[in-house]
Amino acid sequence: MTVQDNPFLPLTAPGIAGLTPYVPGKPVSELERELGIRDSVKLASNENPLGPGPRAREAIAALMGEIGRYPDGGGFELRRVLAEYHGVPQTAVTIGNGSNDVLDLIARTFLYPGVESVFSEHAFAVYPISTQAVGAAARVAKARDYGNDLDAMARLVTDKTRVVWIANPNNPTGTWLAAAPLKSFIESMPRTCIVVVDEAYTDYVGEPDFPDATHWLEQFPNLIVTRTFAKAHGLAALRVGYGLSDPRVADLLNRVRQPFNVNAFAQAAAAAAIGDLEHVRASVEFNRAGMRQYLDAFKRLGLEYIPSVGNFITVDLGRPAGPVNHELLKRGVIVRPVGNYGLPDHLRISIGLEAENARCIAALEDVLAS
Ligand SMILES: *Cc1c(COP(=O)(O)O)cnc(C)c1O
Repeated sequence: MTVQDNPFLPLTAPGIAGLTPYVPGKPVSELERELGIRDSVKLASNENPLGPGPRAREAIAALMGEIGRYPDGGGFELRRVLAEYHGVPQTAVTIGNGSNDVLDLIARTFLYPGVESVFSEHAFAVYPISTQAVGAAARVAKARDYGNDLDAMARLVTDKTRVVWIANPNNPTGTWLAAAPLKSFIESMPRTCIVVVDEAYTDYVGEPDFPDATHWLEQFPNLIVTRTFAKAHGLAALRVGYGLSDPRVADLLNRVRQPFNVNAFAQAAAAAAIGDLEHVRASVEFNRAGMRQYLDAFKRLGLEYIPSVGNFITVDLGRPAGPVNHELLKRGVIVRPVGNYGLPDHLRISIGLEAENARCIAALEDVLAS
Protein backbone atom coordinates (compact mmCIF):
# COMPACT_ATOMS: atom_id res chain seq x y z
CA MET A 1 0.00 0.00 0.00
CA THR A 2 1.37 3.42 -0.91
CA VAL A 3 0.96 6.26 1.52
CA GLN A 4 -1.55 7.89 -0.86
CA ASP A 5 -3.90 4.92 -0.40
CA ASN A 6 -3.69 5.09 3.37
CA PRO A 7 -7.18 6.01 4.64
CA PHE A 8 -5.67 7.70 7.69
CA LEU A 9 -3.52 10.05 5.61
CA PRO A 10 -6.10 12.89 5.56
CA LEU A 11 -6.00 12.87 9.37
CA THR A 12 -2.26 13.47 9.64
CA ALA A 13 -0.38 16.66 10.40
CA PRO A 14 0.97 18.55 7.38
CA GLY A 15 4.25 17.10 6.18
CA ILE A 16 3.65 13.49 7.24
CA ALA A 17 2.69 12.34 3.70
CA GLY A 18 5.99 13.62 2.31
CA LEU A 19 8.16 11.82 4.85
CA THR A 20 10.43 9.04 3.69
CA PRO A 21 11.11 6.74 6.61
CA TYR A 22 14.74 6.67 7.76
CA VAL A 23 16.21 3.39 6.51
CA PRO A 24 18.54 1.99 9.15
CA GLY A 25 20.97 -0.81 8.42
CA LYS A 26 19.34 -4.23 8.81
CA PRO A 27 20.11 -6.08 12.03
CA VAL A 28 23.16 -8.24 11.49
CA SER A 29 21.32 -11.40 12.55
CA GLU A 30 18.62 -10.82 9.91
CA LEU A 31 21.11 -10.16 7.13
CA GLU A 32 23.12 -13.24 8.01
CA ARG A 33 19.98 -15.37 7.91
CA GLU A 34 18.86 -13.85 4.61
CA LEU A 35 22.20 -14.25 2.87
CA GLY A 36 23.21 -17.51 4.53
CA ILE A 37 26.44 -15.98 5.82
CA ARG A 38 28.15 -15.89 9.20
CA ASP A 39 30.72 -13.78 11.01
CA SER A 40 29.83 -10.68 9.06
CA VAL A 41 31.47 -7.36 9.90
CA LYS A 42 29.24 -4.34 10.47
CA LEU A 43 30.76 -1.08 9.31
CA ALA A 44 27.52 0.70 8.57
CA SER A 45 26.55 2.98 11.47
CA ASN A 46 29.70 4.80 12.60
CA GLU A 47 29.78 2.98 15.91
CA ASN A 48 32.90 2.77 18.05
CA PRO A 49 34.42 -0.69 17.40
CA LEU A 50 35.86 -0.68 20.93
CA GLY A 51 32.44 -0.13 22.52
CA PRO A 52 32.26 1.71 25.83
CA GLY A 53 35.18 2.26 28.18
CA PRO A 54 35.59 0.61 31.59
CA ARG A 55 33.99 3.44 33.55
CA ALA A 56 30.77 3.33 31.55
CA ARG A 57 30.67 -0.47 31.76
CA GLU A 58 30.96 -0.33 35.55
CA ALA A 59 28.23 2.29 35.80
CA ILE A 60 25.88 0.08 33.77
CA ALA A 61 26.64 -3.04 35.82
CA ALA A 62 26.05 -1.15 39.07
CA LEU A 63 22.49 -0.29 38.04
CA MET A 64 21.16 -3.78 37.43
CA GLY A 65 19.26 -3.78 40.72
CA GLU A 66 17.43 -0.56 39.81
CA ILE A 67 15.67 -1.73 36.64
CA GLY A 68 12.29 -1.64 38.35
CA ARG A 69 12.59 2.11 39.02
CA TYR A 70 11.96 5.03 36.70
CA PRO A 71 15.05 7.03 35.78
CA ASP A 72 15.59 10.55 37.07
CA GLY A 73 13.23 12.51 34.81
CA GLY A 74 15.28 15.67 35.16
CA GLY A 75 18.58 13.92 34.47
CA PHE A 76 20.05 15.85 37.38
CA GLU A 77 23.36 14.05 37.84
CA LEU A 78 24.11 13.75 34.11
CA ARG A 79 23.31 17.41 33.53
CA ARG A 80 25.47 18.37 36.51
CA VAL A 81 28.43 16.38 35.16
CA LEU A 82 27.99 17.73 31.62
CA ALA A 83 27.67 21.32 32.87
CA GLU A 84 30.87 20.91 34.86
CA TYR A 85 32.69 19.30 31.92
CA HIS A 86 31.77 22.14 29.57
CA GLY A 87 31.90 24.98 32.10
CA VAL A 88 28.29 26.00 31.46
CA PRO A 89 25.35 26.33 33.85
CA GLN A 90 23.32 23.18 34.41
CA THR A 91 20.32 25.05 33.01
CA ALA A 92 22.10 25.18 29.63
CA VAL A 93 21.89 21.39 29.19
CA THR A 94 19.08 19.46 27.47
CA ILE A 95 19.46 15.68 27.49
CA GLY A 96 18.10 13.46 24.75
CA ASN A 97 17.46 9.85 23.81
CA GLY A 98 20.42 10.12 21.46
CA SER A 99 21.24 13.50 20.00
CA ASN A 100 18.60 12.69 17.36
CA ASP A 101 16.06 13.25 20.09
CA VAL A 102 17.55 16.68 20.84
CA LEU A 103 17.45 17.56 17.13
CA ASP A 104 13.83 16.50 17.05
CA LEU A 105 13.07 18.57 20.17
CA ILE A 106 14.57 21.59 18.42
CA ALA A 107 12.30 21.01 15.42
CA ARG A 108 9.22 20.55 17.58
CA THR A 109 10.02 23.69 19.56
CA PHE A 110 10.96 26.10 16.77
CA LEU A 111 9.48 24.72 13.53
CA TYR A 112 5.84 24.53 12.37
CA PRO A 113 3.85 24.99 9.16
CA GLY A 114 4.72 28.29 7.49
CA VAL A 115 8.33 28.57 8.72
CA GLU A 116 11.51 27.09 7.27
CA SER A 117 14.75 25.36 8.12
CA VAL A 118 17.96 25.50 6.08
CA PHE A 119 20.56 22.78 5.61
CA SER A 120 22.98 21.53 2.99
CA GLU A 121 22.75 18.91 0.31
CA HIS A 122 24.32 15.66 1.65
CA ALA A 123 23.45 16.72 5.22
CA PHE A 124 22.48 14.35 8.02
CA ALA A 125 19.12 12.64 7.34
CA VAL A 126 17.51 13.71 10.59
CA TYR A 127 17.36 17.40 9.53
CA PRO A 128 14.90 16.86 6.67
CA ILE A 129 12.90 14.27 8.63
CA SER A 130 12.48 16.44 11.73
CA THR A 131 11.66 19.51 9.63
CA GLN A 132 9.00 17.77 7.58
CA ALA A 133 7.47 15.89 10.47
CA VAL A 134 6.35 19.19 12.01
CA GLY A 135 5.08 20.55 8.69
CA ALA A 136 7.82 23.15 8.20
CA ALA A 137 9.52 23.67 4.84
CA ALA A 138 13.13 22.62 4.12
CA ARG A 139 15.41 24.87 2.06
CA VAL A 140 18.39 22.87 0.84
CA ALA A 141 21.61 24.62 -0.21
CA LYS A 142 23.90 23.13 -2.86
CA ALA A 143 27.02 21.61 -1.34
CA ARG A 144 30.54 22.78 -2.10
CA ASP A 145 33.12 19.99 -2.39
CA TYR A 146 30.54 17.72 -0.70
CA GLY A 147 30.47 19.96 2.41
CA ASN A 148 28.36 22.79 3.82
CA ASP A 149 28.59 25.88 1.60
CA LEU A 150 27.95 28.57 4.19
CA ASP A 151 27.46 31.31 1.59
CA ALA A 152 24.87 29.26 -0.27
CA MET A 153 23.15 28.48 3.04
CA ALA A 154 23.15 32.15 4.10
CA ARG A 155 21.46 33.05 0.81
CA LEU A 156 18.52 30.77 1.71
CA VAL A 157 17.92 32.42 5.08
CA THR A 158 14.86 34.67 5.13
CA ASP A 159 12.61 36.09 7.83
CA LYS A 160 10.80 32.74 7.73
CA THR A 161 13.92 30.75 8.68
CA ARG A 162 13.79 29.50 12.26
CA VAL A 163 16.52 26.82 12.25
CA VAL A 164 19.79 26.31 10.36
CA TRP A 165 21.26 22.82 10.73
CA ILE A 166 25.02 22.30 10.41
CA ALA A 167 26.83 19.05 11.22
CA ASN A 168 30.51 19.70 11.88
CA PRO A 169 31.99 17.36 10.76
CA ASN A 170 29.21 16.33 8.42
CA ASN A 171 27.83 12.82 8.08
CA PRO A 172 27.95 11.09 5.54
CA THR A 173 30.70 13.14 3.88
CA GLY A 174 33.21 13.64 6.73
CA THR A 175 33.78 17.23 5.60
CA TRP A 176 34.34 19.97 8.18
CA LEU A 177 34.21 23.72 8.69
CA ALA A 178 37.03 25.75 10.20
CA ALA A 179 36.46 28.05 13.17
CA ALA A 180 36.65 31.43 11.43
CA PRO A 181 34.10 30.91 8.64
CA LEU A 182 31.66 29.06 10.91
CA LYS A 183 31.85 31.76 13.55
CA SER A 184 31.27 34.58 11.08
CA PHE A 185 28.34 32.64 9.62
CA ILE A 186 26.71 32.38 13.05
CA GLU A 187 27.46 36.04 13.66
CA SER A 188 25.71 36.96 10.41
CA MET A 189 22.53 35.07 11.27
CA PRO A 190 19.49 36.99 12.54
CA ARG A 191 18.86 36.40 16.23
CA THR A 192 15.42 35.08 15.25
CA CYS A 193 17.09 32.07 13.69
CA ILE A 194 18.37 29.15 15.77
CA VAL A 195 21.72 27.82 14.53
CA VAL A 196 22.32 24.17 15.39
CA VAL A 197 25.91 22.96 15.29
CA ASP A 198 25.80 19.16 15.50
CA GLU A 199 29.16 17.99 16.87
CA ALA A 200 28.56 14.23 16.90
CA TYR A 201 32.09 13.46 15.65
CA THR A 202 34.01 16.26 17.33
CA ASP A 203 36.25 13.94 19.38
CA TYR A 204 37.75 12.43 16.24
CA VAL A 205 38.90 15.69 14.70
CA GLY A 206 42.53 16.69 15.11
CA GLU A 207 42.68 19.68 12.73
CA PRO A 208 44.12 22.73 14.51
CA ASP A 209 41.49 25.20 13.26
CA PHE A 210 38.55 22.90 13.95
CA PRO A 211 36.19 24.73 16.30
CA ASP A 212 34.55 23.73 19.56
CA ALA A 213 31.30 25.64 19.11
CA THR A 214 30.44 25.24 22.80
CA HIS A 215 32.93 28.07 23.42
CA TRP A 216 30.64 30.45 21.53
CA LEU A 217 27.49 29.79 23.53
CA GLU A 218 27.75 32.92 25.65
CA GLN A 219 28.30 35.05 22.62
CA PHE A 220 25.41 33.66 20.55
CA PRO A 221 22.14 33.14 22.44
CA ASN A 222 20.60 31.60 19.30
CA LEU A 223 23.25 28.83 19.10
CA ILE A 224 22.56 25.22 20.08
CA VAL A 225 25.44 22.73 20.08
CA THR A 226 24.57 19.03 20.14
CA ARG A 227 26.80 16.13 21.15
CA THR A 228 26.31 12.37 21.37
CA PHE A 229 27.63 9.43 23.36
CA ALA A 230 26.98 7.11 20.41
CA LYS A 231 30.25 7.65 18.56
CA ALA A 232 33.58 8.17 20.36
CA HIS A 233 32.10 7.09 23.71
CA GLY A 234 30.78 3.81 22.33
CA LEU A 235 27.29 3.96 23.85
CA ALA A 236 25.17 3.81 20.69
CA ALA A 237 22.77 1.15 22.00
CA LEU A 238 21.87 3.16 25.09
CA ARG A 239 20.69 6.22 23.12
CA VAL A 240 22.02 9.30 24.85
CA GLY A 241 23.07 12.74 23.66
CA TYR A 242 22.62 16.35 24.71
CA GLY A 243 22.28 19.92 23.61
CA LEU A 244 23.99 22.98 25.09
CA SER A 245 22.42 26.39 24.62
CA ASP A 246 21.42 29.61 26.25
CA PRO A 247 19.39 28.55 29.34
CA ARG A 248 16.34 30.38 27.96
CA VAL A 249 16.47 28.20 24.84
CA ALA A 250 17.08 25.09 26.96
CA ASP A 251 14.05 26.00 29.08
CA LEU A 252 11.84 25.87 25.98
CA LEU A 253 13.35 22.58 24.76
CA ASN A 254 12.86 21.06 28.19
CA ARG A 255 9.16 21.97 28.14
CA VAL A 256 8.77 19.85 25.01
CA ARG A 257 11.03 17.03 26.24
CA GLN A 258 9.37 13.91 27.64
CA PRO A 259 10.45 13.56 31.28
CA PHE A 260 11.81 10.03 30.99
CA ASN A 261 13.38 10.35 27.55
CA VAL A 262 16.80 9.17 28.71
CA ASN A 263 16.88 5.82 30.52
CA ALA A 264 18.74 5.23 33.76
CA PHE A 265 21.53 3.14 32.22
CA ALA A 266 22.14 5.78 29.58
CA GLN A 267 22.25 8.56 32.17
CA ALA A 268 24.68 6.72 34.43
CA ALA A 269 26.91 5.44 31.64
CA ALA A 270 27.10 8.85 29.98
CA ALA A 271 27.93 10.58 33.25
CA ALA A 272 30.77 8.08 33.76
CA ALA A 273 31.94 8.21 30.12
CA ILE A 274 32.32 11.96 29.73
CA GLY A 275 35.37 12.00 31.99
CA ASP A 276 36.95 8.86 30.51
CA LEU A 277 39.42 10.76 28.37
CA GLU A 278 41.66 7.70 28.20
CA HIS A 279 38.98 5.69 26.39
CA VAL A 280 38.24 8.51 23.97
CA ARG A 281 41.95 8.85 23.24
CA ALA A 282 42.27 5.13 22.58
CA SER A 283 39.22 5.20 20.32
CA VAL A 284 40.57 8.14 18.33
CA GLU A 285 43.94 6.44 17.91
CA PHE A 286 42.28 3.27 16.66
CA ASN A 287 40.28 5.37 14.26
CA ARG A 288 43.36 7.10 12.90
CA ALA A 289 45.11 3.80 12.23
CA GLY A 290 42.00 2.38 10.57
CA MET A 291 41.57 5.45 8.41
CA ARG A 292 45.19 4.99 7.20
CA GLN A 293 44.35 1.40 6.26
CA TYR A 294 41.49 2.58 4.03
CA LEU A 295 43.34 5.50 2.47
CA ASP A 296 46.28 3.24 1.57
CA ALA A 297 43.88 0.71 0.06
CA PHE A 298 41.95 3.31 -1.94
CA LYS A 299 45.20 4.65 -3.32
CA ARG A 300 46.26 1.15 -4.32
CA LEU A 301 42.86 0.43 -5.90
CA GLY A 302 42.72 3.82 -7.63
CA LEU A 303 39.51 4.82 -5.82
CA GLU A 304 38.52 8.42 -5.12
CA TYR A 305 37.10 9.26 -1.69
CA ILE A 306 35.85 12.26 0.23
CA PRO A 307 38.57 13.21 2.75
CA SER A 308 37.00 12.64 6.18
CA VAL A 309 37.82 13.79 9.70
CA GLY A 310 35.19 11.47 11.20
CA ASN A 311 35.16 7.77 12.08
CA PHE A 312 34.00 6.82 8.59
CA ILE A 313 35.10 7.31 5.01
CA THR A 314 32.89 7.75 1.96
CA VAL A 315 34.39 6.21 -1.13
CA ASP A 316 33.49 6.97 -4.75
CA LEU A 317 33.16 3.74 -6.72
CA GLY A 318 32.75 5.55 -10.02
CA ARG A 319 29.70 3.38 -10.73
CA PRO A 320 26.34 2.73 -9.06
CA ALA A 321 27.03 1.59 -5.52
CA GLY A 322 23.95 -0.65 -5.15
CA PRO A 323 25.27 -3.74 -6.96
CA VAL A 324 28.71 -3.41 -5.32
CA ASN A 325 27.03 -3.14 -1.95
CA HIS A 326 25.04 -6.29 -2.65
CA GLU A 327 28.20 -8.20 -3.52
CA LEU A 328 29.87 -6.94 -0.35
CA LEU A 329 26.90 -8.18 1.67
CA LYS A 330 27.26 -11.64 0.17
CA ARG A 331 30.85 -11.56 1.42
CA GLY A 332 29.66 -10.65 4.91
CA VAL A 333 30.65 -6.99 4.78
CA ILE A 334 27.95 -4.51 5.80
CA VAL A 335 28.58 -0.89 4.84
CA ARG A 336 26.19 1.99 4.05
CA PRO A 337 24.99 2.97 0.59
CA VAL A 338 24.33 6.72 0.57
CA GLY A 339 22.10 7.12 -2.49
CA ASN A 340 19.43 8.63 -0.23
CA TYR A 341 21.97 11.38 0.57
CA GLY A 342 22.34 12.22 -3.11
CA LEU A 343 25.51 10.12 -3.49
CA PRO A 344 24.47 7.12 -5.63
CA ASP A 345 28.03 6.09 -6.57
CA HIS A 346 29.43 6.26 -3.03
CA LEU A 347 29.56 3.89 -0.09
CA ARG A 348 30.12 5.06 3.46
CA ILE A 349 32.38 2.76 5.45
CA SER A 350 32.69 3.08 9.21
CA ILE A 351 36.21 2.58 10.51
CA GLY A 352 36.34 -0.71 12.40
CA LEU A 353 38.96 -2.89 14.05
CA GLU A 354 42.04 -3.66 11.99
CA ALA A 355 40.85 -7.14 11.01
CA GLU A 356 37.38 -5.84 10.11
CA ASN A 357 38.86 -3.14 7.90
CA ALA A 358 41.10 -5.72 6.26
CA ARG A 359 38.06 -7.90 5.48
CA CYS A 360 36.19 -4.96 4.04
CA ILE A 361 39.13 -3.94 1.88
CA ALA A 362 39.70 -7.49 0.62
CA ALA A 363 36.01 -7.90 -0.21
CA LEU A 364 35.91 -4.56 -2.00
CA GLU A 365 38.98 -5.45 -4.00
CA ASP A 366 37.45 -8.80 -4.90
CA VAL A 367 34.12 -7.28 -5.96
CA LEU A 368 35.69 -4.50 -8.01
CA ALA A 369 37.96 -6.97 -9.82
CA SER A 370 35.08 -9.30 -10.78
C1 LIG B 1 25.44 9.66 14.54
C2 LIG B 1 25.03 11.08 14.41
C3 LIG B 1 24.32 11.72 15.43
C4 LIG B 1 24.07 11.02 16.72
O1 LIG B 1 22.93 10.35 16.78
P1 LIG B 1 22.50 9.71 18.16
O2 LIG B 1 21.04 9.93 18.12
O3 LIG B 1 23.14 10.45 19.28
O4 LIG B 1 22.91 8.29 18.09
C5 LIG B 1 24.00 13.05 15.29
N1 LIG B 1 24.36 13.74 14.21
C6 LIG B 1 25.07 13.18 13.23
C7 LIG B 1 25.51 14.02 12.10
C8 LIG B 1 25.41 11.83 13.30
O5 LIG B 1 26.07 11.26 12.30
